[in-house]
Amino acid sequence: MEIKLVGHQKQWDYLKSSFESEQMAHAYLFCGENQIGKKTLAIEFIKILNCQDNNKPCGKCKNCIDIEKGNFLDFLFLRTGEESINFEGMFSYNSALPDLKSGEVLTDKKEIGIDQARKAQDFLNLRSYFGGYKAVVIDNAQNLTTEAQNCLLKTLEEPKGKTILILVSNQPERLLVTIFSRCQTIKFFTNKEINEFLNTPQRNKKEKEILDELLKVLDGTLAEKFAYTKNLKEDGGNTKEIFEVLQRYFRKELLQGPSLQYSKAISLKLNLIDDLIYKITFTNASPKLALEILFLEI
Ligand SMILES: [Zn+2]
Repeated sequence: MEIKLVGHQKQWDYLKSSFESEQMAHAYLFCGENQIGKKTLAIEFIKILNCQDNNKPCGKCKNCIDIEKGNFLDFLFLRTGEESINFEGMFSYNSALPDLKSGEVLTDKKEIGIDQARKAQDFLNLRSYFGGYKAVVIDNAQNLTTEAQNCLLKTLEEPKGKTILILVSNQPERLLVTIFSRCQTIKFFTNKEINEFLNTPQRNKKEKEILDELLKVLDGTLAEKFAYTKNLKEDGGNTKEIFEVLQRYFRKELLQGPSLQYSKAISLKLNLIDDLIYKITFTNASPKLALEILFLEI
């Protein structure tokens, strides 16, 4: 199923592939402005984890439907009472189970306190009802009291089997550093932010051609990479331009990256590119050789 959330495709693909490659984190922090689809994506992700169809999330199987309705026994949703109950108007969520083993824990306060945090913790410690993933989503996680956050730290430090905790927040800076550092951060952007990234600087046609070819080469085999550098003139020709195109591309990727881990990987590539550009500009290093080094490393 394609998610029709403009601008979040990268985040979605990233989460989906981490599930498919079994490299999921136990805890995520979805951060970004209010009302841009963080919660919706969190719910869709939980559907992926528990969907009974091959094409996950199908949105049609019993698990997908129950998750959407808030009737899924392995899913708990925690939030404060200050917001409307609709998930950004896309679908509504009902608490069907009075014993709060699943469904929604709604506090009437503006804070999410220690009692709710303990409920989340106990919930994740219980065996999965359906044998799949147990999931907790905490909306407006910045409203967790310090006591509640400290309680959750234990869960983050000793995650159990197939469990996942997703904190959703528009003010992640209000969370304890220890919480922040134990969650994999997924950043969400508003359309305005995305447009700014995409439009500055404007890519001209030539740069686009160079980049398209480069991206193909970067995905290719080592032999294809060396075939590419072999075609360059011995004096390097437009090698510096190639480096600069890649530098702009990765800078943009860094800004739009879906997670801190992803950003770290991009940073390493950018450091290498910056270093090689410096060398071919200010020393007599061979531009062609520099590009070969780059291709070997990234
Ligand atoms: Zn399904």
